[in-house]
Amino acid sequence: MHIPFVDLKTQYALHRTELDAAMQSVIDDAAFIRGKHVKAFEEAYAEAYGVRHCISCGNGTDAIYIALKMLGLGPGDEVITVANSWIATSEAISETGAQVVFADIEPDLYTIDPARVETLITERTRAILPVHLFGLPADMEPLVQLCEKHNLLMVEDCAQAHFATYRGRRVGTFGAAGTFSFYPGKNLGAYGDAGCVITDDDDLAAKCRMFANHGALVKGEHAIEGINSRLDGLQAAVLNVKLPHIHDWNALRHQHGVRYTEQLQGIGDLELPVLRSDSDHIFHIYCVRTGRRDELRAWLQEKGVPTVLHYPTPLPFLGAYADLGHGREDFPVAAAYQSRIVSLPMFPEMTDEQIDYVSDCIRGFFER
Ligand SMILES: *Cc1c(COP(=O)(O)O)cnc(C)c1O
Repeated sequence: MHIPFVDLKTQYALHRTELDAAMQSVIDDAAFIRGKHVKAFEEAYAEAYGVRHCISCGNGTDAIYIALKMLGLGPGDEVITVANSWIATSEAISETGAQVVFADIEPDLYTIDPARVETLITERTRAILPVHLFGLPADMEPLVQLCEKHNLLMVEDCAQAHFATYRGRRVGTFGAAGTFSFYPGKNLGAYGDAGCVITDDDDLAAKCRMFANHGALVKGEHAIEGINSRLDGLQAAVLNVKLPHIHDWNALRHQHGVRYTEQLQGIGDLELPVLRSDSDHIFHIYCVRTGRRDELRAWLQEKGVPTVLHYPTPLPFLGAYADLGHGREDFPVAAAYQSRIVSLPMFPEMTDEQIDYVSDCIRGFFER
């Protein structure tokens, strides 16, 4: 058997008629940039999410940058984010001119540790930027309390957690803004780069909308200098077809995660993802840990099961942040996990047979 890590082809095959028609209509309408498909997506996403505004943009990295920049973040400010994420999170902070400050993750959960965050707050701290990594919401209540206590802004990176809830409330709605990526492999993915900012703040929404489109709300009237970060019509059309399916897809991912966990319980030294009783886990990624990680990966590769590392190196240990001078002792949890984590295939269309095959291969490895 060969199992893809993510299978975008099967999903396309299942929805091909609708997707092809939607893409053709963009071409027929010549609505390539902005236009009615983009407007329809922004309205549908805001409505589905239960927020006042969805501002589409070119990708999820820009979404973070646009939100932070329009909240006034810049040189002299510090933004606290998490040591284990995709580099987009910290890049977007640096792009505003603000200083990235990394906090360690919580054991087993991979999300930002609120207790660590508190120790990092200084006079310059202006915002906290949690990442709902792997589809599991960060522990928001203490983070919201810290924001209130220290008068900080909250922007949530929801690139891996579309529609996930924490204590009944959707991620992305706890602070000033939530940001999303619709990169093809995300839980809701376009057929190219795409992203958005959501907010209930009318003023922030208008600013983000302006900034993302060269500083103009009305064509030709540039109130400020902005950037070119627009969602294109083809991506919006694809997203319009896919959006109604997101809840089913998230539910399937969750179901697959539970099945993996049932199958993999008690094998070798494997440590499995932990669920939180007060939150969804929508399993963008199913990440396990073992001291024999590299050996296991090679074994699985041979059996037709590709694996990926999310992420091979915690952000503070990358060359890009060498000037911060961090050592492993600054991020003991992320450092301890670095050589142990490995992500297994996960996508909504996965069959039970595929999950069982992966699980059997892993059991075979530990029982040799
Ligand atoms: C994918 C991702 C992003 C960036 O999204 P792009 O659309 O690729 O720019 C940001 N943060 C996290 C956690 C992501 O997984």
